[in-house]
Amino acid sequence: MATGTMAMAEKGKVKVAVFDDAGNLTGVEEVPRIAKADAEWKAELPEAVYLVMRKKGTERAFTGRYYQNHEEGIYRCASCGTALFSSKTKFDSGTGWPSFYEPVHQLNVKVESDLSLGMERDEVVCARCHGHLGHVFPDGPPPTGMRYCMNSAALLFVRRK
Ligand code: FE
Repeated sequence: MATGTMAMAEKGKVKVAVFDDAGNLTGVEEVPRIAKADAEWKAELPEAVYLVMRKKGTERAFTGRYYQNHEEGIYRCASCGTALFSSKTKFDSGTGWPSFYEPVHQLNVKVESDLSLGMERDEVVCARCHGHLGHVFPDGPPPTGMRYCMNSAALLFVRRK
């Protein structure tokens, strides 16, 4: 971890890129990290969101609200509102989960090693609230070759105004 990142983690702050609902980057801001007790998350999040974001659950394929969404807009974190993905990078992966070839900004998501279920996968989490979003795999389309396989329950779509 870079020294700068370490210092920010200690201060409980995180740098995120801020996007308006038209999908424009309005700046990079240092904001307080969001950390809550499990009971607090459980009380405030809808159950489906809680199970995915705080318990690292996976919604059943072809059941989420966004895998077939083709509207233009921004996908925000369902827990904290941080902008995570743009419809511009969404593609039909055929998996039954909303899939993107890159995050809206590298600052806004973090990738961590996940060794659960006897697999070695790269878990994707929200940089601000550390909520589980899904996983990323190196079998996506150009230009990145990456497939960010997300749970609809972890996202909140905001249609472009
Ligand atoms: Fe978040």
